[in-house]
Amino acid sequence: MKLTIGRHKDNDLVLNDNTVSGKHAEVKISENFKDFTLVDLQSANGSKVNGRKIASKKITEKDSFQFGNSKVAGPVLFKTLNNHIKQARTDFSAEFTTLLGIESQYKSKRRNLNKNYRLLAMLPRLLITIGIVVVIYLIPNLGTELRYPLMIGATLVGSTISTLGISERKKEELLDKLKTRFQLEFVCPKCGSEFYGKEGFFWKEKKTCRNKNCNATWHVN
Ligand SMILES: [Zn+2]
Repeated sequence: MKLTIGRHKDNDLVLNDNTVSGKHAEVKISENFKDFTLVDLQSANGSKVNGRKIASKKITEKDSFQFGNSKVAGPVLFKTLNNHIKQARTDFSAEFTTLLGIESQYKSKRRNLNKNYRLLAMLPRLLITIGIVVVIYLIPNLGTELRYPLMIGATLVGSTISTLGISERKKEELLDKLKTRFQLEFVCPKCGSEFYGKEGFFWKEKKTCRNKNCNATWHVN
């Protein structure tokens, strides 16, 4: 597999510059999509990697490139390369497995939020009440006939003030936030089509995306 670079419009990376040849260079991509070799196609004005003319050279994202007078930064070329690879690839099993992990994380976070939120919402109130009781206990020259009724009073007030309404709303807010973030992540690894609305195991059995123009597949046990 390769990525072609040149002035002609049928290249994968088109450089609109008269010093660039029609078919100027190409990047050869290894079968595991991990090694990249830039090959100059005997262009009129040559190809450079980090300022040096090359005929053929292994490249990484950290290199900088020049075709004729056109400079292309490493991240720019590699972004094009990665998109090109994604277009050609059909097996997205690894990415799909990651998605399943994201889904189970989301579910457990949602479960914990539902289970623990009431307790968490109560905690600050509890701590404040304890603080007040301790302060009353430590006030010097306070007779026991005043001290203990005050402490009991503070405890009663602390435990009866209801924050339930507020905490339910806050919980819904947090659940919403969690869901929104999950919806953004739970998408086809190739085309970005939404997966939300069906569970991970549905997509796992389906083995393909809902977008008919997308040819992504996955095979996960
Ligand atoms: Zn898709």
